Amino acid sequence: MNKKPDKQSAHGFSLEDWENWMQDCGQPKFRAKQITDWVFQKRVKSFADMTNLGAGLREKLEAEFSLETLDCSRIQGSADTTQKFLFRLHDGRLVETVMIPANQNFAGSRSPRITLCVSSQVGCAYDCKFCASGLAGFTRNLSAGEIVSQVISAEQETGKKVQNLVFMGMGEPLANLTNLTKAIEILNADWGLNIGARHITVSTSGLAPQIEKLAQVPLQIRLALSLHGASDEVRERIMPVNKKYPISRLFEALEKWRDVKKQKITFEYILIEEVNDDLTEAKLLASRAKQLHAKVNLIPYNTVEGLPWKRPSVEQQDAFLGVLKSRGVPATLRREKGHDIEAACGQLRLQEEEKLQEVAANSPS
Ligand code: SAH
Repeated sequence: MNKKPDKQSAHGFSLEDWENWMQDCGQPKFRAKQITDWVFQKRVKSFADMTNLGAGLREKLEAEFSLETLDCSRIQGSADTTQKFLFRLHDGRLVETVMIPANQNFAGSRSPRITLCVSSQVGCAYDCKFCASGLAGFTRNLSAGEIVSQVISAEQETGKKVQNLVFMGMGEPLANLTNLTKAIEILNADWGLNIGARHITVSTSGLAPQIEKLAQVPLQIRLALSLHGASDEVRERIMPVNKKYPISRLFEALEKWRDVKKQKITFEYILIEEVNDDLTEAKLLASRAKQLHAKVNLIPYNTVEGLPWKRPSVEQQDAFLGVLKSRGVPATLRREKGHDIEAACGQLRLQEEEKLQEVAANSPS
């Protein structure tokens, strides 16, 4: 059942929000922690189950808030057990969330942790030319509750605990900074989902001023930068955002991030045949990575129906990686897990929406 839009999701309420709410209701402050325990730890389905709260308070909560998880419209599993969920929001919009099991090669490491890739927006406004998410344009931001709900819902569907979180699903997380920051607070807090800040990665297409703002959040979260081109010329051709924030401006922001966080940034670099896979681009990428002490995560392009791009041959991929390694840049080539379920950004939702449109077009009006 979809949650009623007039009710706020309790998944988007922080301890401090509850403390303020309790104060407004004339309730003692400690009730706030009781609620977050029920919502995030015990995960009860109904306010009626919150047995240490009085009946009057439970009724008030019931009237104003929702505890519902997201409706799972489709689950797609793959041979390597990467699972992709298509979640339906209260307004019928779809977002995708991908669970990558422990010990799969993801984001450049053989992680012993279960990783969840979450969406931050419905659609995307940034129009990267290779990406499925932008094809249908931008619809809306996800609320903090909807971001957190993806984690709670995926855990509920699988019975597994998410230990690593990446904002690499649909949307540009830094274009939804307020809700992103609130969601991260809840995901990280010990009263919330308790996911270590070092295990939360925000991936961005390169919104320089927002990178600087996010750097001010006092948590050791990680940053991945979707670079995909080492020169302005190549990057601009496939990522329009580069016109607004060219590489020089972007690197200013990244240097600030590094100064504040004292941690390595990851460059994500999709390899697309005859677009950005030339070895001269690899050399420039190596020098850019060295300038920032960044590591590089190469990702062979996942083909998207309706887009002309292709992944380069394995030999070309290896040669590109070789250039980085020979120059001493820490680099990995992610042999995409979940390629067979089209686990790249926005692909599943696009298929589902196309199917829905076909059904609508074929049904008598
Ligand atoms: N907007 C953010 C986060 C979403 S994209 C960003 O740009 O980083 C998450 C990652 O998936 C990005 O690195 C993006 O470039 C990549 N991606 C998008 N389409 C892809 C495709 N078809 N094949 C492989 N990776 C893709």
